[in-house]
This record gives sequence, C-alpha cells and structure tokens, in this order.
Amino acid sequence: MDDIKVEFILKKEVILSEVEEITEEIVSFIEQRLYNQLSFPFTLTDHNAPAKIYENCVKVEISTKTPLLDCNLIQTLVNMSKRTKSSVKCYGAVPGIAPSSVSFVGPDCSKNTLLHNDSSLHDNATILNIEKKKRLKIFLSLKKKFKDLHCWGVDKIFDFFSSREGVEFIISYGENLNLEYYTKCPSCCKPEIHPIYAGNFSPIIGFLTRKSKYYFQCSFCEIVFLNPVPKSGDLNKLYDWYDVEIFPNENDFSLHSLQHNHYIQNYELCFKKYGKNLPKNATIADLGGGTGFFSSLAKQKFPSWDIDVIDFRIYPQKKLNEFGINTIESDLSSFTLKENHYDMITLWEVIEHLRIEDIELQLKRIYNGLKSNGFLIISTPNFNSPLTQALDFWAWFMPHHISVLSLNSLLPIFAKTGFELFDVNYESILLREERGDFSFGVTNSCSIASRAESLLLNLLIMEQSRNTKLISEFRQKEIGTEMVIGLRKP
Ligand SMILES: [Zn+2]
Repeated sequence: MDDIKVEFILKKEVILSEVEEITEEIVSFIEQRLYNQLSFPFTLTDHNAPAKIYENCVKVEISTKTPLLDCNLIQTLVNMSKRTKSSVKCYGAVPGIAPSSVSFVGPDCSKNTLLHNDSSLHDNATILNIEKKKRLKIFLSLKKKFKDLHCWGVDKIFDFFSSREGVEFIISYGENLNLEYYTKCPSCCKPEIHPIYAGNFSPIIGFLTRKSKYYFQCSFCEIVFLNPVPKSGDLNKLYDWYDVEIFPNENDFSLHSLQHNHYIQNYELCFKKYGKNLPKNATIADLGGGTGFFSSLAKQKFPSWDIDVIDFRIYPQKKLNEFGINTIESDLSSFTLKENHYDMITLWEVIEHLRIEDIELQLKRIYNGLKSNGFLIISTPNFNSPLTQALDFWAWFMPHHISVLSLNSLLPIFAKTGFELFDVNYESILLREERGDFSFGVTNSCSIASRAESLLLNLLIMEQSRNTKLISEFRQKEIGTEMVIGLRKP
C-alpha cells in the first residue's frame, strides 16, 4: 500500500473576483494546514498544472472554497481508497471539511466505494465551506484572530463555535461590535427567557453548531430574540458587501422582472387591499426599501403616488430617481419623518432586523408620520409557521435577523403604539420554487432522515399546481411563512 502515491490537486476557485489576493491567501493557508496535519507523504499540485502520471495513485481534489478540511477524514478516505483501489464517495460530512473527490488511478482500480461520514454533521449541524461571502468574512476574521488556525482540528473549531466566545464572534460578524446580554425579555420584561436551538441546520453564516446559544424565547409573550445583541448604534455594521450576494442590476426594475420578484405576493396584496383605497396622489414612504423593488413597482402601477424611499443604503438610487421616486439615504433611527404627512408607510422585511425596543420606537415615530386613517404595512417572517420551522429556517438569517416574530408576540407591541390592527394575511415566500431552499436541505441537512425529508418536501412543492394549492391552504389556515400586517392610525 505504501508504494501508492497521494496527489492533492488544488482547484483555485475564485471566491471574490474583487480581491484576487484573498485566493492566494487561502491557497497558502491550505498548504500550511495539509503539511502541518497530514502524516503521510503527498504532493500538492495546482489543478491548472499538467497532470503527473503515476502507476498507482490516489488523487484528492480539494478547493479554495474549503480551507477548513478535516485531515483525519482525509486520512480515512485515502486509506480506504488505497486499500480497496477504488474511488471513495463521502456523504454526510459537514459541508466544507471533506475533499471534493478522492479517486484511485491505476490499472487495477475497482468501482466506487461509499463512506457515510455522518457523525460530525449529525453532532454539529453546521457549514464550514466559504461559498457565501458571509462565511468567507468569518473565516478571514478567524484566521486573523487565531494565528495557529491551520493547526486546529475540526473538533476544536466546532468547540470554539459552540462556546459563548464563538457565538459572540459570529454575532460581531468578525468585527469590533458592542454586544449586550438580555437577562429579561426585551418586550414584556419578564425574567423567564430560555435558549431555543436550531437542530438540523446552522444559520447561513455557518460555523455555529447545534450547541451554540444565540436565540432566546420569552415564556410569556413568546417573542424570539438574538442574545447577545449588538447595541443599536452598531447594528448597521452588520451590513457590508460581504452581506450582499447579489446587487440588483438595471434589468431588475422592468415591470416584467419585478413581477417575478420573490416578494411579489406581498406587494400585490398591498396594492389590492390598501392601494385602491388611497387617494390618487397618495404620499407613501417605503422605510428600509433600499433595493428599490417595491417602490419601483408601485410607481409603475400608480404613477401619481409621491413615494419616498428611506434607507441607510440605497443601491439603485439613480434608477429610482429616474422613475420619479425620492430617495433619502439615512439611518432610520436618526431620520425624522414629516408629521401627519403620509397616507401609507411600508416596512417590507425590516422589523426582523431591528431590536425589539427599536421596533416599538419606530412604530411610534411612524404613527406620528401618518395622516389619520393612514396605513402602516409590515411584512416579516412568521416564526409560528410549520414551514418556517422546517429545516430551522427561522434561524438561518442570524445575526442579521435580530427579532423572530409571530402575531402573538407582536400584538402586545402594537398595543403600546396606538395603532389598531386592520388586517393580517399569510403569504408563503418560502414556497416560491426558484428560491431553492428545500433543495439546499437535500445536501446540507444534518442527518440521513432530514436530508430525505428535504428531498420529499422539495418534490411536493416543485409541482406547480400543488404549490399553488399549498400557498392558498397556508393562507387560509394562517400558517404561511410571511405575515403581511396592516395597521391603521385611528
Ligand atoms: Zn416577553
């Protein structure tokens, strides 16, 4: 067996086309990691270099998208490949710790063999690859903080992120953020608060394990909140270009594209239920609408509306101005709305990004900005939807989702602000097939059972007529994934 050579082939996949040095930095990290942790001889080749021909060889393909390889797992896979003279398929490992492929090259090679490596994924339910910019940012910050990271086994990485220090590291998004801990409910002030755990998945930001504590729930008012939480003034530090996978481009604002926007159901509902009751020259403010999707659709449908978009960052500012929309780049917390000015104010998928105390504050300010009989429309994910709880979707967007809400937990907050509840509708954005959330679960969920469940759910929802029926059923049963709430100023 010892005369069988092992060749690593490193694929330099461009992770950030904007910053080329990052790829080189990751290449050198991987080299250090392999030479430090592997006890057998091997060669390491760039995948663009001409292939060396060996008589008998195990080829291990790795990628710059997976710098935190599990060297014990590699050892097991290589030994298995040498012993069986076969290519070894590895299923069920934490995404990011296994090589892309392990194949046997030689005259006597036999068929594939299979290794289910479920224990690490089952125990930790996390993601360590850096395919998302968020995870790349965490990896780069981690490497900066721990100079010996290349020597860490994956268990040490899992232990760190299961700890309080690891959770604080993720919630700070790898930066210097001021965090504070709640010892009582931020909404009703009762002291009975308890951690709740994601079980099948980690949040998209990865690294956290199923033992990490980051969301807590109040036993009285049911509200779910991030704990610890960044101080309000530090919240916008969570948003930088690592957070944005896709910037909207010019073509996204045609009426045709907007009709295919993920949130079109919510927008259409708003136009149908509220838009038609508004005066012809209605004054509208879209708070936190920095991508411009709602405002540009609204302006194309209701050209006489006077629309302000207010957000701390507005991507398509020029485009929106061309449509005749007023854009104001400002932090919502420091911007003063004109009093008794607006007929309708919208908060699309915004309040979950705010601390509970700030939701209350914002609602009071919005109340003052609205005319009498004016509407505030809020949409936010519904924690109490079974689909939101399937695959732990409610936890996917921490730390960016500071508050995870339901109608039960929101009603006491609304009661404090003077608004009256006008209407609640339940849409199901998660069921939009192009989102691919359930197919993501097929490969990334933590057990054989939950991966199969994702596959089944995906099959169910991909069929168009069944999908439409489900969306309507979830709407009727008030268990859709998105609440669209209408509040009225009396
Ligand atoms: Zn409470």
